[in-house]
Amino acid sequence: MPIQTLIESDRKHLIHPVINYRAHEARGVTVLESAHGAFLRDANGNELLDAFSGLWCVNVGYGQDSIVKVATEQMTRLPYATGYFHFGSAPAIELAEKLVDLAPASLQHVYFTLGGSDAVDSALRFITHYYNATGRPAKKHMIALQRGYHGSSSVGAGLTALPAFHRNFNLPLPTQHHLPSPYAYRSAHGNDAQALIAASVGALEAKVAELGAENVAAFFCEPIQGSGGVIVPPFGWLKAMREACRKLDILFVADEVITGFGRTGPLFACAAEGVEPDLMTVAKGLTSGYAPMGAVLMSDAVYQGIADGDATAIVGHGHTYSAHPVSAAIGLEVMRLYHEGGLLANGVAQGPRFAAGLDALLAHPLVGDSRHRGLLGALELVADKDSKEGFDPALKLSERIAASAYQNRLVFRAFGDNILGFAPALCYTADEFDLLFARLKKTLDDVL
Ligand code: PLP
Repeated sequence: MPIQTLIESDRKHLIHPVINYRAHEARGVTVLESAHGAFLRDANGNELLDAFSGLWCVNVGYGQDSIVKVATEQMTRLPYATGYFHFGSAPAIELAEKLVDLAPASLQHVYFTLGGSDAVDSALRFITHYYNATGRPAKKHMIALQRGYHGSSSVGAGLTALPAFHRNFNLPLPTQHHLPSPYAYRSAHGNDAQALIAASVGALEAKVAELGAENVAAFFCEPIQGSGGVIVPPFGWLKAMREACRKLDILFVADEVITGFGRTGPLFACAAEGVEPDLMTVAKGLTSGYAPMGAVLMSDAVYQGIADGDATAIVGHGHTYSAHPVSAAIGLEVMRLYHEGGLLANGVAQGPRFAAGLDALLAHPLVGDSRHRGLLGALELVADKDSKEGFDPALKLSERIAASAYQNRLVFRAFGDNILGFAPALCYTADEFDLLFARLKKTLDDVL
């Protein structure tokens, strides 16, 4: 189809995720055509440096031939295998074992989904089932964080704490609660890590006391909040929250959909602090976006509780494409690329370059804060660096920055509240980081 016809057809028929529908109709789609390494090519022939790994997912970069090879082989041999009726496939079983080997030791069982939202949704269903099956049916309340993102499923979107996911969707539910996030730049505690950690633990304890521990099921958090603006808590925060949950007798769920698979340095952010969650949700870097797949990893205690609690009945949770063999084969190859392929090591080696590039932009008149861990980072733009006052929304700064970035052939995420999010692929070279920061500086200069 010619490009203009595609744009017209998109406008008429394709509903895009998380977008203002009228604004999209007016602007029109940018059709992407191909990609290689860290670069995307659009239908107008522009080569764009992708500093966001698609949607924080293509951690291994584009054009990895070995992934295409395993996918082709698996599609040829066995394109689909149901997990129902006691069937299974070798890649799915092998990937489950691999994840258990690589993940924190508490996690022993894996349920595969198609992405992150249904991983969170599955975790919510398993938790509800677990407490009902083990004789504590009152444990229904779920606690998460303000600015958190836990996907877009009909219940999970209530754990998400971004206004657009609630407005006109009748969320959050009365059993869903949100505590302040550990947002150093805008917290009264600033960079006092211990005070920030104590405030979060105190808020969790107070909320559980208010609801009654016998009524609280779980606390969900991202080790670093992604879609809420890359909020990087101080080191020790995750561990403290995990320990608080243990004391309060509620389950601790780490949502590592963004932070998993090398994004913050180690394979999982939990590993950096020796945190062992009761459940963990993953997606994105699991297959690096080459095919859809997510997973819930579960502790043995939760698994055994469900299995024994419903010993004579079916646990009614399932998806046709759970443990899809092609996605699983891709996941196995992606794990090989992280480890034997050297991508995890390259991500760790490039981390300081990424951090230095972001921090250098603190000198720019628009930039109030720079925050990062591993290859996950953000700049927060402010109108006044002393008062930290943001920009008048009428200025539509984020939209102007997104347009300027495209002119400068750079892709990152300009959030509505003037936070710019970055998640370069783990395959980035030093030259590509130089290009990223040259184009980013030009982008910021252009909107001054
Ligand atoms: N959880 C977190 C932390 C996420 O960042 C996302 C997506 O960005 C999700 C869940 C939902 O994943 P998906 O978009 O694959 O449904």
